[in-house]
Amino acid sequence: MIITVDGPAAAGKGTISDYLSKKYKLAYFDTGMVYRAVGLQMVLIGEDLSNKDAALKIAQNMTFPQMMELSIHPDFRSDIGSHAASVISVYPEVRTALLKMQQNFALNPVFADGTPANGVIYDGRDTGTVICPQADLKLFVTASTEVRAERRHKEFLQKGIITTYQKVLDDMIARDERDCNRSAAPLKPADDAVIIDTSNLDIEAVLAYIIPLVEAKI
Ligand code: C5P
Repeated sequence: MIITVDGPAAAGKGTISDYLSKKYKLAYFDTGMVYRAVGLQMVLIGEDLSNKDAALKIAQNMTFPQMMELSIHPDFRSDIGSHAASVISVYPEVRTALLKMQQNFALNPVFADGTPANGVIYDGRDTGTVICPQADLKLFVTASTEVRAERRHKEFLQKGIITTYQKVLDDMIARDERDCNRSAAPLKPADDAVIIDTSNLDIEAVLAYIIPLVEAKI
């Protein structure tokens, strides 16, 4: 069983994917991590994000263990890491270099401790369109920009990160703009994706809608 969950930032993809991965014993690949790893590595070595060749070299050499190691860095999920990921993910060559690593995950799905899983759940922007077009179920989760910015702002405050709603909103608009308008793998629903707008739904309502879709595929 392969499920893809695509959509813009803070639409609810992570919460949905995490829940489904536990309920149905699916190994979870948060594909934003590969772009965050390359972007953060660029920042850490002091490379300019506009240097496409440097980003490509890092992407070509990126391994799963290196990505996991970078993921514990404090800036992996900060606005610095988010911005870097958003910029380098526009380069088509970087995306191509990171493709196999993401696709290979579905060949032998296992949990972090090595136990075999019943399948995979991918979360990202292009997992239903490019990474795994053969997925059994494709979800495209979205919400209004304002609602998403509010959610992200709340998350930052809970983590003790001081920022303003306006800054979070501006960053989100800039990231959406890059994701939706890039030439390679732009953010858009696959033709056969189920589109879910979570703007006015709580997580219980979203899951109550999705669970029957998954059960129908089992
Ligand atoms: O999902 P997350 O916010 O961690 O993703 C970080 C960035 O990586 C996104 O803003 C997007 O630009 C990029 N990304 C992508 N394709 C994916 C996942 C993430 O381009 N499949």
